[in-house]
Amino acid sequence: MSSKIISGKDIAREIRDELNEQVAELREEGLVPGLATVLVGDDAASRLYVGMKGRAAAEAGIHSRQVTLPASTSEEDLLALIDELNNDPEIHGILVQLPLPPQIDDAKVLLAINPDKDVDGFHPVNVGRLATGDPDVLAPCTPRGVIEMLVRSGVDPSGKHAVIVGRSNIVGKPMALLLLRKAPGGNATVTVAHSRTGDLGAITRTADIVIAAVGWPNTITKDMVKPGVTVIDVGTNRVDDPTRPRGYRVVGDVDFEGVSEVASAITPVPGGVGPMTIAMLLANTVEAAIRLRKAAG
Ligand code: NDP
Repeated sequence: MSSKIISGKDIAREIRDELNEQVAELREEGLVPGLATVLVGDDAASRLYVGMKGRAAAEAGIHSRQVTLPASTSEEDLLALIDELNNDPEIHGILVQLPLPPQIDDAKVLLAINPDKDVDGFHPVNVGRLATGDPDVLAPCTPRGVIEMLVRSGVDPSGKHAVIVGRSNIVGKPMALLLLRKAPGGNATVTVAHSRTGDLGAITRTADIVIAAVGWPNTITKDMVKPGVTVIDVGTNRVDDPTRPRGYRVVGDVDFEGVSEVASAITPVPGGVGPMTIAMLLANTVEAAIRLRKAAG
């Protein structure tokens, strides 16, 4: 069997084109969605991510404000900035790039963000809304992107057994909650596996959909899936590759070559879940702007 490739790059492009149109209409009505990204310190990877998010927002017609603070910034100063952004009517989405320097408590900062502007979906209020099935919740971008990929490529999770490998707060757990929702894109039977799971293959072989969010190459191999499975690879791992100018290449958690021989559909890395995460950040910002306008009357 040769797999259909689920291209996150193409689906993300489609979503971003739709958002461009939606934002143009909102701007005509006088609403310019605004996203603030906050970076503390000069970590190269974080700077790259924040830059990509800011550029994507600007390309969509979203007002983008990038705030970069020195690594020595105090928790008090960062909390004061969050308070300012919470009260700024031009800003509808606030994203604080993690990790933060050691003198700052990540949890305290996430808790300070107005849940209605929490476009990352990490605030405990939004985690609770997601767990209780609130249809209007701002859901975390990566798992929300996975649901969009499934639905837009014709894989309806309803009634299927989805096995998620990984239980992190940013991917695995919200992924499980989204797949469990009594809503389109949900209604799956969900199993969550992790590093203490005994005989992972015995569990993944029972899955109609496998979602790998581990952070380790080749965690899912051909012998661990059943024929016809749909595989979504969230993993982003650097492996040495002297043939590349950079000296490395990026791979997922799934043995793509082997698994694509038996899967009916599979996502590549790169070009899979990654571009969807950014598209969903833009979608969350637009949704937040519309809801905040409605709440303001
Ligand atoms: P975490 O390290 O927070 O979580 C990894 C999870 O995998 C943990 O639950 C861990 O179990 C589990 N795990 C580790 N080893 C195994 C194993 N051998 N068998 C089964 N489970 C295992 O990672 P994240 O959730 O933050 O990210 C996962 C991957 O997704 C990373 O590669 C990350 O870079 C990528 N990612 C990609 C994004 C994108 O946009 N494409 C966005 C976010 C993440 P335990 O809980 O027991 O430790």
